[in-house]
Amino acid sequence: MPPRSLPDVPITVIGGRGPHGLALHLWMRDRGLEGAYALVDPSPAWLPLYGDDGPARFTTWLRSPRELDFALGDPARAMTAWRDADGRTPLADVYALAEAADPHANAVIGPERRVCRRSFVRYAGDLARRSGADAHVVHDAVAALRPDAAGWRVELAGGGSFATRVVLLATGMAPHLRVPLPWEPWWRHLPPGSAELALRADARVERLRGRRLAVLGSSNVATWEAATCAARLGAEVTLLCRRGAPIERQLPFDVAWFDQRTIHRFSLLDPRERLRRLKKTHVPKSTPPGSRAAAEAAGVRIVFDARVRTATELWGGVQVQWRDAGGERAERFDLVWASTGGDPRPRELPFLRDAVGQGRGPVVVGGPARNLPVTDACGRWQQLPPLYPLGHLAFPRAGFAATTLASAGRYLPLVMPSVLADAGVDPGRRAHRAAPDPLEVAA
Ligand SMILES: Cc1cc2nc3c(=O)[nH]c(=O)nc-3n(C[C@H](O)[C@H](O)[C@H](O)COP(=O)(O)OP(=O)(O)OC[C@H]3O[C@@H](n4cnc5c(N)ncnc54)[C@H](O)[C@@H]3O)c2cc1C
Repeated sequence: MPPRSLPDVPITVIGGRGPHGLALHLWMRDRGLEGAYALVDPSPAWLPLYGDDGPARFTTWLRSPRELDFALGDPARAMTAWRDADGRTPLADVYALAEAADPHANAVIGPERRVCRRSFVRYAGDLARRSGADAHVVHDAVAALRPDAAGWRVELAGGGSFATRVVLLATGMAPHLRVPLPWEPWWRHLPPGSAELALRADARVERLRGRRLAVLGSSNVATWEAATCAARLGAEVTLLCRRGAPIERQLPFDVAWFDQRTIHRFSLLDPRERLRRLKKTHVPKSTPPGSRAAAEAAGVRIVFDARVRTATELWGGVQVQWRDAGGERAERFDLVWASTGGDPRPRELPFLRDAVGQGRGPVVVGGPARNLPVTDACGRWQQLPPLYPLGHLAFPRAGFAATTLASAGRYLPLVMPSVLADAGVDPGRRAHRAAPDPLEVAA
């Protein structure tokens, strides 16, 4: 079959069904600029990260406050105003950023004030459906991104291609999950069916029930959630926790990072000053209030200060060796999950490798932003046609808010004037006007 020829489009979001694609759609729609963008994504549903098969499926409650939603200046689109199909408003009482500024309140915010993951997915899906976002989705994965005279050529896994002037890169964290470097020599010799990265692990109940599972991680939220969830599904879970008792707090960051003016001011600083501030800011690993109690109630055996040394295949399972306060230990497990987070390296994204090869696409070489794009004053990845890294990939420019949903609702609007200019899209005299509220219109 000959490759499909798709219409060229000024702006393309790669990862278009994620929060950035939805935010871009709403922002453009508010300004009557529909038709100027494509949202490319292989996912059949919105926010696949938070779906029941996505990397965040062990998460019951999100960590973020009510402000990290898709209102984008229109209160009728706020999560607190959203009504579910049954008329309930499950996100109406979510805690606010101001509450997280108080360390005592932050340490006790409970589930009744948190964002339920499944409700959030329904809220986003509702906004997307009612605002006509699906009409802008190109349902395919990007296989290659090639610089050309006018910007970029986007080649799709399904065989089609089209030209675009500006790319917004929003492929998220999932392609960058890793085990720590010292583990690599032994990790890759473990049987793939027995050793998995927790965020990608096969968590079907029939696979877990009655099996001995070791979750290897630190004191961060993903580790506690994976262990608790697996135990609830019937696994006999040992959590080998690299650190001591977890710090429990709802929002791990200083709330100042989420103020749009702070993000803006930070992004305008000299790049070396930005990196210096990021390096100086210590964000301890933490997990929401009640995580430890929930794990214990689910029957998780918790071993603190466990330093995993090595693991080897043994009788169809995995023998894990670690050191803890009691000395050296070795135990056999049926399954091992590494909850060791990610190390985003956008230069290694398969579809980008050619474009950023041969010295193009510079990245930060050290510190907390290592391997992330060096951007110019407008947020474009340097030495390439216009390409705006978003989400975690924008950490060196936007700071800690970039690693959360604030990247879509608060950072993206800051780069939009430059995106439109690069795309040759003239907003003309159209001032910002919120389009008729999609929820109200369809009601
Ligand atoms: C486990 C977990 C829990 C989190 N919890 C919270 C929280 O509670 N609160 C909060 O504010 N933030 C949270 N975050 C962070 C937040 O979800 C992310 O910052 C946000 O989702 C990033 O959005 P994104 O669009 O960059 O990526 P994602 O939401 O990951 O979306 C990436 C998209 O890219 C698509 N894609 C991938 N490859 C291709 C390709 N080749 N071509 C086209 N499309 C592609 C995927 O299908 C997907 O739709 C969490 C993150 C994780 C991993």
